Amino acid sequence: MADRSFLSWPFFEPHHAELANGIDAWARENVAGLIDHHDVDGSCRRLVAALADAGWLDLVVPASHGGWYPKLDVRSLCLAREILGYHAGLADFSFAMQGLGTGSISLFGTDAQKDRWLPPVREGRSIAAFALSEPDAGSDVAAMTTTATPDGNDHLRIDGEKTWISNGGIAGHYVVFVRTGEAPGARGLSAFVVDADTPGLEIAERIEVIAPHPLARLRFNGCRIPVSNRLGQPGEGFKVAMATLDVFRATVGAAALGFARRGLDEALDRVAKRRMFGAPLADLQMSQAALADMATEVDAAALLVYRAAWAKDSGAARVTREASMAKLYATEAAQRVVDRAVQLHGGLGVTTGVKVEELYREVRALRIYEGASEVQKIVIARQVLDARTGGMA
Ligand SMILES: Cc1cc2nc3c(=O)[nH]c(=O)nc-3n(C[C@H](O)[C@H](O)[C@H](O)COP(=O)(O)OP(=O)(O)OC[C@H]3O[C@@H](n4cnc5c(N)ncnc54)[C@H](O)[C@@H]3O)c2cc1C
Repeated sequence: MADRSFLSWPFFEPHHAELANGIDAWARENVAGLIDHHDVDGSCRRLVAALADAGWLDLVVPASHGGWYPKLDVRSLCLAREILGYHAGLADFSFAMQGLGTGSISLFGTDAQKDRWLPPVREGRSIAAFALSEPDAGSDVAAMTTTATPDGNDHLRIDGEKTWISNGGIAGHYVVFVRTGEAPGARGLSAFVVDADTPGLEIAERIEVIAPHPLARLRFNGCRIPVSNRLGQPGEGFKVAMATLDVFRATVGAAALGFARRGLDEALDRVAKRRMFGAPLADLQMSQAALADMATEVDAAALLVYRAAWAKDSGAARVTREASMAKLYATEAAQRVVDRAVQLHGGLGVTTGVKVEELYREVRALRIYEGASEVQKIVIARQVLDARTGGMA
């Protein structure tokens, strides 16, 4: 049983504990039965439908469209991701992508855009995706070359490729960032919603990764969309992407925290049961040192994740520094915690089908996507340098 004493920390309101306990009980009962590792697409479809039926997808849209809160509540998103991640990586993934793939619509969409794309996602009838990365523009987002050019007065044609797109192949819509050329670099991008069945959009290939989930390279070949699918103003695409990531970046840290907490719990169980040299492994001081490091890193990660979430919910316009620190620390710490959990399991830890082996694969990509750790360090350094010079750096 996971230690949930952190719910009494001052970052939370009473309803957050209720939410966390509700998701935990639901996940404990339902998640394992929905996942078939030989059918990842089917598993994600079932998870999305079940998350919607249980009402948990109400967390990913604003109250105007059936959600729980007037605007996205980052603490709730983090709690949901942490707890779902604790139970299964795919459950967290299915929940998180419904949020990331609609976040830009919730934040920048018109009423008509929200009416069209949010309810199907909240009700689990449609799967959402967020398409920013390209083969030659990952960390360097502003290097993107996918273009949208005018086609008549009220349409655009998109040409280019996006890659590593989560839910690629099963999504109903993609929020796509493209070059529209209002200015050079990051100031010449715009965001659009593209329905998956739009002619000219195809799945170029499905991508297999160490912790399988739906992932694809998308090809846009003269893909014609109405101008009315644009989110925000022309040239605002970078702002739309960064504001969306500002909300969701801390939640990646929360997912990592869920994996780390599970790793710690699995390790605690194992060291209590495994006997060697005439005593349980838990009695050996080097195991205790490992457990102490793991528990301390888990708490430090939780403090940073929920500090960032609380700051955003408390009305901070941007939480760039807090969210980057949370994502950087929690994902790096989770990797170390899970690695120690594997070590404490010995050979069993690298055996296919054992939970810590799954966690070891699940946690790795979190240090890369939504800004690799090196990118987070650059962001944090800029923030602290700026703060020192009063924003003049
Ligand atoms: C499982 C998974 C799911 C993903 N889902 C999505 C999705 O849904 N939508 C989407 O748009 N993208 C998605 N991505 C893409 C992801 O965001 C990119 O992989 C990430 O931004 C890194 O880009 P890249 O892979 O091109 O690596 P590169 O940009 O080539 O970077 C390689 C490495 O260089 C290092 N690095 C980066 N910048 C610096 C620097 N300034 N100084 C020193 N070192 C640096 C980092 O270690 C980085 O990992 C996903 C990726 C994965 C692995």
